[in-house]
Amino acid sequence: MLKVDLHCHSNVSDGVLPPAEVAACARQGGVEVWALTDHDEVGGTAAARAAAQEQGMRFVAGVEISITWAGETVHIVGLQIDENNEALVKGLEATRSGRDARGQEIGNQLAKVGIHGAYEGALEYVDNPALMSRTHFARFLVDKGYCKDVPEVFKKYLSPGQPGYVEHRWATLQDAVGWIKGAGGIAVIAHPGRYKFTDMQEGVLFDEFKQLGGTAIEVVTGSHTPDQYPEYAKLANAYGFLASRGTDFHAPGEARVDFGLLPPLPGSVKPVWHDWF
Ligand code: AMP
Ligand code: MN
Ligand code: MN
Ligand code: MN
Repeated sequence: MLKVDLHCHSNVSDGVLPPAEVAACARQGGVEVWALTDHDEVGGTAAARAAAQEQGMRFVAGVEISITWAGETVHIVGLQIDENNEALVKGLEATRSGRDARGQEIGNQLAKVGIHGAYEGALEYVDNPALMSRTHFARFLVDKGYCKDVPEVFKKYLSPGQPGYVEHRWATLQDAVGWIKGAGGIAVIAHPGRYKFTDMQEGVLFDEFKQLGGTAIEVVTGSHTPDQYPEYAKLANAYGFLASRGTDFHAPGEARVDFGLLPPLPGSVKPVWHDWF
């Protein structure tokens, strides 16, 4: 079976390595088909494509778009996109535009619980000024000794209900799927097992996504627990979705599963790449 990884981040969003180094890590982990899917950004695509070619991997142009659905943040991955498509580029630009102001507000909120200078501190970790992420705050707080690791920062400070959480309105589901499809791409619901939806809400999300032209859901991802792989394989088949696979790599040592160790898709599902090659 082809080793396919269709979900990774570089320092063009909240990963720590430049696209070419992510490509090298992927290759080292045995990846043969690779997509870079930075948050709300396609700025790393050219470098990623060149590096993939150099490493002898097939390259898939991708993106991970932040949306707000039923009041929650959901991520929609776009694969096989034309990264120069004007509507997509403009849509991503609009999606990114509130990130800096949100970062300043996160800093203000954290100051109220005694953590000062977090905005400036987090900025030190940002390589793309248009893409300040909660992850940058998390790394700053870990390095300053407030928490032992990134997941702990999210739990204590950066998740809904916690002192550093700032409400934010992202793109709509309809916009994100529309931009992806308009750019010739395939829309995929990222890590569906991570959202705090009831089964019924999840069903409504899947139905709406399908109606809008969505094609696949992630089944095997570093953002799922292993018991969620068969669960979402079943749901993919029940809803007639293709299945995707990816590590959701951000940084060496930060991942739940490394490149080489992510299991293959269950045999019961149809891979999103089934007709690509
Ligand atoms: P943002 O787009 O700025 O809201 O940040 C979202 C990013 O934060 C995600 O893409 C993940 O990389 C990271 N993240 C979210 N929740 C967690 C968590 N519980 N543990 C670790 N990283 C997380
Ligand atoms: Mn991320
Ligand atoms: Mn995500
Ligand atoms: Mn991701």
